[in-house]
Amino acid sequence: MTRGTWTRRIAMTAVATAAAWALAVPAGAQAATATGTSTSTVAAAAAAEDVDYATWQTDCQAVMNEALPYLKQRIAAAKPGEKQAIVFDIDNTTLETDFGFSYPQPANKPVLDVATYAQEHGVSLFFVTARPGIISGVTDYNLKHVGYKVSGLYVRGFLDLFKDVAAYKTAQRVTIENKGYTIIANVGNSATDLSGGHAEKTYKLPDYDGQLS
Ligand SMILES: [Mg+2]
Repeated sequence: MTRGTWTRRIAMTAVATAAAWALAVPAGAQAATATGTSTSTVAAAAAAEDVDYATWQTDCQAVMNEALPYLKQRIAAAKPGEKQAIVFDIDNTTLETDFGFSYPQPANKPVLDVATYAQEHGVSLFFVTARPGIISGVTDYNLKHVGYKVSGLYVRGFLDLFKDVAAYKTAQRVTIENKGYTIIANVGNSATDLSGGHAEKTYKLPDYDGQLS
């Protein structure tokens, strides 16, 4: 794939994201978000110049190579009656958002491999995303279509759009814990996916200084 293709894909993804925001964000808040959206579009286009797909995949695989042995050990050591869960971010974590502009979006293979091991060994997979609720249905379909077994999908509701992303994501992990699950790992590519605790381990995939959503 050429660099030019990357740039076009990134730009198209950004346009789709902006369209989703336009639909989801109330009119009064759109002016406030418009600047941020266009800025991140420029940053994403710049990322395409810096990060190629092979590098991204190698970097993701390195993180999952650390996660899998831990998960094998932790799953084997489950306490009687313990309901184990893993929480995943979606964009550029479980799906190839910025590298695979198509629908359904392809799975990020190193992460899918680890998720597959976990779901085949009784672990429930929960997906917590900053995506707005309006695209919940297509997101749920996409995750299942590429092989993830979705025990729960948390998207941002109307009021959540005004909250800090890290606080919103942490609150969803608390909700999962309150359903009786032990979150043995939390996997994401942004710092806001992982801060706030409520997971035994965190695994950080690359975002290249915020260039990947
Ligand atoms: Mg992400």
